[in-house]
Amino acid sequence: MKLSWHVLLNNRKVKPTLAAACLVLLLVTSGHAAFAQKTEKRFATAADIQRDSVNRFIKYKTCGTWAAYVPDTLHPEFTPFRQVRINIHVMLDSKGQNNFPDNSIGRQWIKDMITNANARLDKNTKMNLPKGNTTPVLRIPFHYVLTGRPGDPRDDGIYFHRDDSLFFMNKKAKNLTSVYDNRQYQVYGIQKDTVINVFLMEHHPDSVRSKTYRPSNDGIGMGPWAKIVGCYNIWKTPTVMKNGDTLRYSPWDAAALFNHELGHCLGLQHTWNTDDGCDDTPKNPGCWNVNEPPGCTDVSNNVMDYNAWKISYTPCQIGKINKNFYDDKVTRKYLVPEWCTFNESKTVTIESGTSAEWNGSMDVLGNLVVSNNAVLTIHCTTSLPPGGKVILYPKSTLILDGAILTSRCASPFEGIEIISNKKSSPKIYFKNGSVLQNAVHMME
Ligand SMILES: [Zn+2]
Repeated sequence: MKLSWHVLLNNRKVKPTLAAACLVLLLVTSGHAAFAQKTEKRFATAADIQRDSVNRFIKYKTCGTWAAYVPDTLHPEFTPFRQVRINIHVMLDSKGQNNFPDNSIGRQWIKDMITNANARLDKNTKMNLPKGNTTPVLRIPFHYVLTGRPGDPRDDGIYFHRDDSLFFMNKKAKNLTSVYDNRQYQVYGIQKDTVINVFLMEHHPDSVRSKTYRPSNDGIGMGPWAKIVGCYNIWKTPTVMKNGDTLRYSPWDAAALFNHELGHCLGLQHTWNTDDGCDDTPKNPGCWNVNEPPGCTDVSNNVMDYNAWKISYTPCQIGKINKNFYDDKVTRKYLVPEWCTFNESKTVTIESGTSAEWNGSMDVLGNLVVSNNAVLTIHCTTSLPPGGKVILYPKSTLILDGAILTSRCASPFEGIEIISNKKSSPKIYFKNGSVLQNAVHMME
């Protein structure tokens, strides 16, 4: 600008007085404005939408399939990372015994177990089975978070209960005191609507003393609650090895069982004795470890098998867990609702020249931007937070096909903002009865 100003002055042989300089500057500036395209920013109205002739909403075929929820490795931003709320109840006898103590040692052990469970999720590992498999190893998109009652800073989500009739479980019992007994959850459950309640139980000391009873590490995961059984007893009596070393059961070991039982809560089934609906989790011969039982060679390491490892989640299993995170009737209520807090740094952008098709539901935690020459096709339900908006650049295309664009929060999101210029404005298609819901700017 400075250079052209001097050239202009010289060409025109104008004496560079201050007034003249101002005049020329004005001319140059307005000249530039004439070259730039004038852009307009506003929220979309009904007139901006092209609709097909379908009047009723037709749900898209992939919305309820796990395959639509397998994380896209090229677009990690399409899979928001989740915090699953849990709490831990330690069931003690009336004397405060037979389980982890209500002191810093007990609390720390439990916190270490959760930390280790999350570390295991961070370390998703290649499947052992079937031999020679090429099953991808995907990032597991969640952690557990210990959650106390809101408004009480002393509540860390770990509770100790003294109850002579409910502190133990009996493997040989059929109903009451069996692993399926839900009375612990009924009596002691806390924040049941928003937190998965996990109970640390022990076998009865009389059972432990019996020669015919094996006080094994057991558990169960039943949706809103889970039990992890036997950790304390195994931990307090370290195994003495042949060479004299002692091997102590650790929070890392317990975390494997924890992840297995929570896997049930999050919607997974065993891989070996039922049809778990996944073709990347092969049936296996039931080996705990190599040569356990003797002769075992092909040992599974999948989290939903019984094995010493329990550290591998397949794409199908991750897809199923992720699908349930979008379902109010399954596990969505247990997630920290981060989709209701606008976070600009979590804005999802469909980059210029690319296209994306969302075959499952989606939570956008910031804005949703479709760049010039980009196409986004949305099926199913996409949620934006209050304060968030869809931003469409002049040459972008947004297609809603069997889709609901909404805010799954008490307050509405902003709506669809379109940026247009003299030459282009975004193309917006609503197909198969697609709708905009819970937006400040509803396109009326
Ligand atoms: Zn199980």
